[in-house]
Amino acid sequence: MALMRLSKGDISGFKFLFALAIMFGLMTMLVHPILYMKFVKPLGIDAPLDRFSEARAVQHIRVLSKDIDGRQEGRAGLREAADYIKGQLEMIKERAGSDIRIEIEEAAVNGSFNMMFLGYSISLGYRNHTNIVMRISPANSQDSDPSLLLNGHFDSPLGSPGAGDCGSCVASLLEVARLTVDSNWVPPRPIIFLFNGAEELFMLAAHGFMKTNKWRDTIGAFINVEASGSGGPDLVCQSGPGSWPSRIYAQSAVYPMAHSAAQDVFPVFPGDTDYRMFSQDYGNIPGLDIIFLLGGYFYHTSYDTIEKLLPGSIQARGDNLFSIIKAFTNSSMLQNARDRESFAATANKYVDQDVFFDYLTWFMIVYSRRVALILHSIPIAIFLTMPLFLCLLYSGLRSWSAVPHYWGYTCNYFSDFIFNHKIAVL
Ligand SMILES: [Zn+2]
Repeated sequence: MALMRLSKGDISGFKFLFALAIMFGLMTMLVHPILYMKFVKPLGIDAPLDRFSEARAVQHIRVLSKDIDGRQEGRAGLREAADYIKGQLEMIKERAGSDIRIEIEEAAVNGSFNMMFLGYSISLGYRNHTNIVMRISPANSQDSDPSLLLNGHFDSPLGSPGAGDCGSCVASLLEVARLTVDSNWVPPRPIIFLFNGAEELFMLAAHGFMKTNKWRDTIGAFINVEASGSGGPDLVCQSGPGSWPSRIYAQSAVYPMAHSAAQDVFPVFPGDTDYRMFSQDYGNIPGLDIIFLLGGYFYHTSYDTIEKLLPGSIQARGDNLFSIIKAFTNSSMLQNARDRESFAATANKYVDQDVFFDYLTWFMIVYSRRVALILHSIPIAIFLTMPLFLCLLYSGLRSWSAVPHYWGYTCNYFSDFIFNHKIAVL
């Protein structure tokens, strides 16, 4: 048998490949548990009442996606889901102390509008879609006080049990509402929980809310929760107008999961969320669009079941939401529509979108567009100038040592070009 002799160079090459394999292996070991939410311990059904519990939220999802048969418009299940949500809210209201006021209302919304969807102009008319709204406010609050809106839809797409989309959203909001009351926290500003019954039909119920609800002009910020999968990173995919919603998120999220580049990619996907109704089409409300990303192959299919939900995902969502709503309701930037308009006329602070991203859910990095312009230009400047700099350096070293060299006495720019650029890139 012929033995292959390895040269010194081959051995160095294999060592380098081995080191790369080790490095990528370690990176995978670091990222995998974060992507699959294994770093979050879901709390059980008997968790303290002043904590968000994933198990309690999953109970709601079980009812919505298993016990109720189909939450699509025209099916009895959609009405059953509305009754279930309303029943849960009434139970929360009964437990509330005297220092907070809770109002619950159900509305059947009607309307018509035009929208551009995937490049097509669509005209829509609708009747009798159900919205269930709960407003939690301090006992001494006024109806006109600026408020925070939390939105999730309880209808599901045709043929799907909708455990992730969006049973998980409804369940998260129900558990956050319960937690708000049971933790004896009195929100400094009103929080409006909107459970809307028609998102899958071109966001009709959100349109109805924005056109008819009596509190719509008091909303100073909103958080829309959505799911395009069965869990995983609960990513801030859209934010704005302005930068303050993402800054509030960066300051307060327990497990920050956000990336400003997602907003650039979002229009490419053939879908949309209620976010556009609140922040773009029928309001100029600053807000966040937070979406479950992993397990997209179950999205809008019959496989979007409770068994597919990734443990830890709803716990992370709930812990984040409760912390974020505290920060939003404490913020001086939370202003009703009238004050927001006059503020925008006099100040351009927070108008531009920030650049932001999280690092493995540990912390967020946020910087302004102006800083981004400088920061992101530096690598280009280094890339272009480094070869010239290195050529000058080599020339200097050679003349200093006066030793003939492979590079020659004059710098061969073209032969060094690739090598120098590699160093610049590194
Ligand atoms: Zn959805």
